[in-house]
Amino acid sequence: MSKTYDEIAKTPIEYLKGVGPDKGRLLREEISVANFGDLLHYFPFRYVDRTRFYSISEVPNAPGEIQIIGKLIALQAVAGKNRRRRLVGRFSDGKQSVELVWFSSVAALEKLLQLNTPYLLFGKPQQYQGTWSFVHPELEAYTPERHGEFGSFYPVYSTTEKLSAKGLNGRAIGKLVKALLPQFNDKISENLPSSIIEKYKLIPRQNALFSLHFPAGKDEMSRAKLRLVYEELFFVQLGLVRQKLVNKSKIRGNIIAEVGPVFNRFFHEVLPFPLTNAQKRVVREIRRDMGTGAQMNRLLQGDVGSGKTIVALLSMLLVYDNGFQACLMAPTEILAKQHFAGLSELLTPLNLEIALLTGSTPAAERRKTLAKLSEGSLPFIVGTHALLEDRVQFKALGLAVIDEQHRFGVAQRSRLWTKNPIPPHILVMTATPIPRTLAMTLYGDLDLSVIDELPPGRKPITTKHYTESKRLAVYGFMKDQIALGRQVYVVFPLIKESEKQDYQDLMSGFESICRSFPEPQYSVSVVHGQLPNDEKDREMQAFVEGKTHIMVATTVIEVGVNVPNASVMVIESAERFGLSQLHQLRGRVGRGADQSYCILMTGFKLSKDAKLRLKTMEETNDGFRISEVDLSLRGPGDMAGTRQSGEDQLKVASLSRDGKILEAARTDVIQLLEKDPQLESAENTPTRLHYVANYAKSQSWSRIS
Ligand code: ADP
Ligand code: MG
Repeated sequence: MSKTYDEIAKTPIEYLKGVGPDKGRLLREEISVANFGDLLHYFPFRYVDRTRFYSISEVPNAPGEIQIIGKLIALQAVAGKNRRRRLVGRFSDGKQSVELVWFSSVAALEKLLQLNTPYLLFGKPQQYQGTWSFVHPELEAYTPERHGEFGSFYPVYSTTEKLSAKGLNGRAIGKLVKALLPQFNDKISENLPSSIIEKYKLIPRQNALFSLHFPAGKDEMSRAKLRLVYEELFFVQLGLVRQKLVNKSKIRGNIIAEVGPVFNRFFHEVLPFPLTNAQKRVVREIRRDMGTGAQMNRLLQGDVGSGKTIVALLSMLLVYDNGFQACLMAPTEILAKQHFAGLSELLTPLNLEIALLTGSTPAAERRKTLAKLSEGSLPFIVGTHALLEDRVQFKALGLAVIDEQHRFGVAQRSRLWTKNPIPPHILVMTATPIPRTLAMTLYGDLDLSVIDELPPGRKPITTKHYTESKRLAVYGFMKDQIALGRQVYVVFPLIKESEKQDYQDLMSGFESICRSFPEPQYSVSVVHGQLPNDEKDREMQAFVEGKTHIMVATTVIEVGVNVPNASVMVIESAERFGLSQLHQLRGRVGRGADQSYCILMTGFKLSKDAKLRLKTMEETNDGFRISEVDLSLRGPGDMAGTRQSGEDQLKVASLSRDGKILEAARTDVIQLLEKDPQLESAENTPTRLHYVANYAKSQSWSRIS
């Protein structure tokens, strides 16, 4: 009987002709290729395109390495520095000519190369002081009979030093793949529903896998890639969307059905401004979600200052009108206090009580608050992690709002759930702008609401990048702003590995600011991670109340602090911050009616990436655009505030490049599961089986077997 795909795929790699035990062990250790299936999925990282022949006039527009047919019309060894000789030639295609240079094997090449005989040149043109040349090009004898032989498109595989030392360089790995593929002939079956194959005119799976290794040309490579990228993203989304559906059908939620009198009174009589369209849309989404009888698990994304708090409050009022309590949890004491103050003010006209619970709430007050919570006479509470303690019991918690999600882990979220027999609805709010594509992969099991619009009348923050030579001017500007009654932040980086050095930078920066802004005319606060908590709070509070002019700080102020009077954010060593962090910091200003400024101070020497980050900051205030640039620069693995996962599983797709395909795949998956939730139909069965065999282990798709 002939072998199945699985049997072949599981064959240990040493059994492949040309491998054996030694190389097998290395392939396993160095590039995680343990069996035939792994090698089948070890794709080239680039291709060399020799299908097209170029002319010298096209050299300035070459896409990379190119080949040209022509003749050497001059060749001469010349002495350079250190008496090192180099070989300089001139290569003509009959119309124009270009310079060739070799720095090694000069004598041998000088003997070997012939003038005026046809050669095929292959290499990457480089521009040096305005003229184009090829350095160390390959030259091969050319005859018209050999023309076809040169016209190929071939893969380049990545390898490691250890593998190369054992003879497994990129080319040798290609040979192994070439020997492998015939074994899989007619064994690779289709795993996507035919409706999808037809919709995108995808090529069959086997063709795609084979062609991605050895495409006949660029077009074939693109078609193979499209098929495999789509397939990969489709299965990731299948897992996530399916998980979401399982959650929805399994986890019961309190039914928040009525839009009641308190909500309406607030909306018509208290709300100090009209909601933006985005806010209205999100409130509708939340209302619809909480009315279904299933638990809501929603992520609310909105740039700093987009007005998430009012959306949270409206949701809390909805819940209240239906007989439930609501809590809002913030990551720091300062933020909890700010929310408490803001919400109290809005709730007073409605005669509704709200309490604050943090680590420093006095015992007597805490006892009272806890008693009211458990007997149900206190409808709302704002707090820190203290809300998670076991002694905090609600009579009927209907909604938990979590602000600035990335400071709370998933485990903490689930602790909130256990406070009631029916878990509360969960609304997680974050200002960390995550590109849509990334959110769909990382949070695909949560529902996503986005506030993509700022309240009207906001003045965009003016952002400028300066180097040290402008320091005095910057200080002068700060003084002007302070004279106008405004306040200023100065932020220093603090990165763990070099904490000590950073701390010294911060303190010497603080001293230099104190010298330039002397008392009693100016007062300067300093806040950093090494200060005791109560001192930190005191300094912060002084700044919040306008008692100090300048706040010198590390990134502890990054999250949520609201000081509308602060109009200048100076970021020191800005080249050391990531884009999303810079954007978060900038979001601390521009919260009042005044024009606000963000000043990025850096050294003179900047990497290419750093320059792009600074330029992006100068050009836009749009958090989502910034996050797209951030994603393209850093890759999704280390975006701030994202769960680690996703990208490592992806072999061919890239979240920064294939966003459109990801969205299409997600839509297709949703439609597919709507029609056939268990993928039971004959058309969908191969898809289900493929999923169960390859993905089900990592995600619980328990009902599919
Ligand atoms: P964030 O989304 O960063 O938490 P906030 O909820 O703190 O933003 O809102 C920022 C500021 O904008 C607050 O002062 C708030 O009162 C105000 N605001 C919110 N929504 C609107 C709106 N629709 N129109 C005008 N101002 C608004
Ligand atoms: Mg906020």
